[in-house]
Amino acid sequence: MRGLKNKGVVITGGSRGIGLATARRFLEEGSRIYFCGLEADEVAQTIQDLSPLGTIQGQVCDVSDEEQAIQFVAAAEEALGGIDILLDNAGIAWEENFLEMTAEHWDKILSVNLRGMFLIAREVSKRMVARASGGAIVLMASKNGLAGEVKYAHYNASKGAIIMLMKTMALELGPHGIRVNALCPGYILTPLAESIDSPEFIAAYVNNIPLGRVGRPEEVAAAYAFLASDDASFMHGTELLLDGGQLAQ
Ligand code: NDP
Repeated sequence: MRGLKNKGVVITGGSRGIGLATARRFLEEGSRIYFCGLEADEVAQTIQDLSPLGTIQGQVCDVSDEEQAIQFVAAAEEALGGIDILLDNAGIAWEENFLEMTAEHWDKILSVNLRGMFLIAREVSKRMVARASGGAIVLMASKNGLAGEVKYAHYNASKGAIIMLMKTMALELGPHGIRVNALCPGYILTPLAESIDSPEFIAAYVNNIPLGRVGRPEEVAAAYAFLASDDASFMHGTELLLDGGQLAQ
């Protein structure tokens, strides 16, 4: 991809699943990375595993905690010498019937997926505007932000809201040369997905996907790389769906 070499890239949730594959992809593109995760041992392991590929640093940060989010972004800017790209990726999910959904569970999902996404995006955007060098921001939404799925009312609501957050950011940040877009993956096989669904469920689920398989984290990493790169220089305020054709039905 054009325009990723030597860029300072911030990734939230970079220690597992899609975020981990994305960190690997951006290192291969020659970017420099500062990421966060929740578990200290996973963060340390990621740095150890990916350091041979290039410059990667990271720390523990709960993105839903405002103080931690502010500290993380400040540390990232200092380490990278300026943030060019934000991949706002961290998110959580679990299944729950709507009629039994507790307010605590609703708040938890919305707090990480939406409040956390907003806090990191706001802090990075402030710094990009002050630096006046433009930038690219990709928010992680989901196919479930575009269409409902049973047992995910809280998750789906958070992802739908992220799409409107992205569109509003695009209106306000476009004049500063900062492009903002969102990714909407369908079913991607990651630790998150495997923590929810059995192999039998996944085998049956692929019947809903015209391509006949679930997606891989590396395929989402490629979409992140495209949206963040100069190859997507006129893409702004839009959501990119990669779901094997599931929503085409
Ligand atoms: P994983 O659970 O595999 O990885 C999630 C990452 O986010 C981990 O690095 C985790 O850190 C981090 N994380 C979780 N909570 C927080 C928090 N409060 N603060 C900071 N970091 C946190 O998830 P996926 O890779 O599957 O998902 C990544 C994103 O992609 C999510 O936003 C998800 O909603 C979205 N998505 C996933 C799809 C899928 O099918 N897998 C489909 C569509 C969208 P740690 O490991 O330290 O806990």
